[in-house]
Amino acid sequence: TANDLRGATISEEDIFPSLPPLLHGHPDVHLRNGVMKANSSAAKHDPDAERAFFVADIAQVYRQHIRWQTLLPEIQPFYAVKCNPDPYVLRLLAALGAGFDCASNGEISQVLDIGVDPARIIYANPCKATSFVRNAGKVGVHTMTFDNADELHKIARAHPGAKLVVRILADDSKSICAFNIKFGAALDTVPSLLAKAKELNLDVVGVSFHVGSGCYDPSVYTDAVMRAKRAFEMGAEAGYQFSILDVGGGFEDALFEQAATYLTEALGTHFPDRRGIKIIAEPGRFYVSKAFSLATNIIARRAPLAEAFDKKDGEARPPVMYYINDGVYGAFNCILFDHQVVHPYVLSMGGSFHVASSEPLTKCSVWGPTCDSIDCVCPTTELPSGLRVGDWLGFNNMGAYTSCAASQFNGFDVSKVVYTTAGYGAAEARSALEKFAAEGHGL
Ligand code: PLP
Repeated sequence: TANDLRGATISEEDIFPSLPPLLHGHPDVHLRNGVMKANSSAAKHDPDAERAFFVADIAQVYRQHIRWQTLLPEIQPFYAVKCNPDPYVLRLLAALGAGFDCASNGEISQVLDIGVDPARIIYANPCKATSFVRNAGKVGVHTMTFDNADELHKIARAHPGAKLVVRILADDSKSICAFNIKFGAALDTVPSLLAKAKELNLDVVGVSFHVGSGCYDPSVYTDAVMRAKRAFEMGAEAGYQFSILDVGGGFEDALFEQAATYLTEALGTHFPDRRGIKIIAEPGRFYVSKAFSLATNIIARRAPLAEAFDKKDGEARPPVMYYINDGVYGAFNCILFDHQVVHPYVLSMGGSFHVASSEPLTKCSVWGPTCDSIDCVCPTTELPSGLRVGDWLGFNNMGAYTSCAASQFNGFDVSKVVYTTAGYGAAEARSALEKFAAEGHGL
């Protein structure tokens, strides 16, 4: 599957025929009898012959959706577009009936352009430009979050008919990416915010929170739901009857079952009577992290700098440095922005995708292609000693917060995506996409 490209067998039929046949056209990798093969006679005249590429298993997104619906049937997911606005991911989720969490005009347009009803969008950015608020109103996106009084004044001017959701603080100390430093109203400020909203004749319809992205202790959802309940009571005291509870994002693949249990229990405790309340969430990472893998080519290899100009401590540096053709200014920006640690594995050595497991390993470092030394993908790792320039390295779990934030620094293109469907849900994902396209929502 795309989740692990080792020994990948991607049949030609697996690649969506409606897409440019990237893999077929890849000069250094091609399909032979349905198996990914390195092409020893790589097109010598292609100016980007060894380009790195993602492989997206769209069926994995489908499987996550089924997992979500099975464990959290009462909570409607509004996929956080920022995490990975891939056109096929958006189309599949739209076809499956998900909603969308958008952060900007650009994301709203992208979702509307594929034919999604604006009622299925929440504009979940508590601090928006006035023109963006006005535009949201114009295109029919009415549900939006806020966490401060200035935002209320802005919305009263630019989109007075908006349906507002107050974003409250939640404990984000158990997450890799914390948000409280930037967003969220403290509970004790909520009554005055609601009073201001009333004064401005605005309609506040609910409460949202976000426990932080990459939450590694999902017990925090318990406290967050309790706080949301308190905010619902404050709403009633201010004369509002809230109808939306938005439990945000933060869902990690490996901890999803736990998170679902904590959330379900907390909802049972604090919202025993949920009639008239729509519960939604804004998962991003959960849907896409495992669905995308990245294949990169080793474009250079050298030894580390000798001591002469090395002013740093005498720390030992791995004796081999590999340079690959995507880095922290590209897909691996997740190392800097999303605090990820990535692990390479060998995809091909010497033109063959088969790698003997008994191969001796050597300590090494892996670097991106730009001329900046911050462009380090792995400061220390272990890879087979026989690796050479031209061999391929794979990286799994590359779907969340990767290409969406990639730059073209130094003139390197953002790695493109090859699409496939593999394993359970492949047929369902394909037919959902085909049906969606048949309804007129093509690319
Ligand atoms: N909702 C909002 C408002 C966010 O800012 C984010 C991430 O930045 C998300 C949802 C998605 O979070 P995650 O990918 O952890 O599910």
